[in-house]
Amino acid sequence: MTAPVPAPTPIAPHEDDTMSSSTAITNIAALVTNDPSLGDGSPLGLIQDAAVVIEGDRVTWTGESSKAPATDNRVDAGGRAVLPGFVDSHSHLVFAGDRTQEFNARMSGRAYSAGGIRTTVAATRAASDAELAANLTHYLAEALRQGTTTFETKSGYGLTVEDEARALRIAAEHTDEVTYLGAHIVSPDYADDPAAYVALVTGEMLDACAPHARWIDVFCEKGAFDGDQARAILTAGKAKGLHPRIHANQLSYGPGVQLAVELDAASADHCTHLTDADVDALASGDTVATLLPGAEFSTRAEWPDARRLLDAGVTVALSTDCNPGSSFTSSMPFCIALGVRDMGMTPDEAVWSATAGGAAALRRTDIGRLAPGARADLTLLDAPSHVHLAYRPGVPLVSGVWRSGVQVV
Ligand SMILES: [Zn+2]
Repeated sequence: MTAPVPAPTPIAPHEDDTMSSSTAITNIAALVTNDPSLGDGSPLGLIQDAAVVIEGDRVTWTGESSKAPATDNRVDAGGRAVLPGFVDSHSHLVFAGDRTQEFNARMSGRAYSAGGIRTTVAATRAASDAELAANLTHYLAEALRQGTTTFETKSGYGLTVEDEARALRIAAEHTDEVTYLGAHIVSPDYADDPAAYVALVTGEMLDACAPHARWIDVFCEKGAFDGDQARAILTAGKAKGLHPRIHANQLSYGPGVQLAVELDAASADHCTHLTDADVDALASGDTVATLLPGAEFSTRAEWPDARRLLDAGVTVALSTDCNPGSSFTSSMPFCIALGVRDMGMTPDEAVWSATAGGAAALRRTDIGRLAPGARADLTLLDAPSHVHLAYRPGVPLVSGVWRSGVQVV
């Protein structure tokens, strides 16, 4: 039995500690930088017995602990592992209500006739702004405790002009990565006239939502929006300055993945049912395949084949898809464990996909890595190696989090 690793101890901080002071985190057993030019030359850019120097909100130095430059403050990591904060590039956190009964029925093999997304739409419309904001804040704090320092989140449970716009306004108070998903499903108000709903999503609703969002998304799936509708929606969003990402090929084969590549979407999300042509398209373009194993876990569905995508040279991200219906987890470590256990990923690949992969899916170069110039978003594990994220599933290993250079956990 090994002795427990001691808690990290701040050593002699300056009394006039300010944002601009420099801090060295030393005695890191294994540091994931995601910069192949650093450390062992692998994609993870792993450095043993390492240190990171933070100044303001940026990383200014990474390397071997013994070579760390003088700094104002020092934090002893106590022989633990440090990696970039997780980048959760796909979540649905502006919602109200609960779908416990639906999940319980599904997992008990019973039929359940309630309306899925429609249940959450009704609850979300009925909620006040303050209730939605409080719910969002609650789940963000939960994600932060598990090491997530950047998250994307979407509208999609309002499905009216006003309810979609307010969801995005509320989300934008907490993240820059806001996605307009008026095209989550056809609004129940337009069940008899889907074309009129697409006209609304690409017209008045888009006008009201575009100022609050960076991205536009569509659920391209049988029962939601077909390829032509998805193309019209994403093209209209692009014309308003939004960049596309797509819910694609989750429940069945379909046109979503190839449409994503054709429109240079930042990400095709789910990618569970793929033809060889879909895989080839992803390998040839700049669209990241974002895999969301929490959804397959929570619906007992077939796993996406990460191994097939990685072997084809596709950039793969891992994300939670956190939402109250099909994947109610905010835990990136849980998704890493699933990726390794059930989707053919190595522990190194899964950790890369949950950090640098998520950054690629958001077309960001300032996060998901720990090299000079990167944002100082770090996760400290109560473990000597990042491999423990998959090796010790379900264990709360995150023991410290820095976001923009400030220790927040
Ligand atoms: Zn989703």
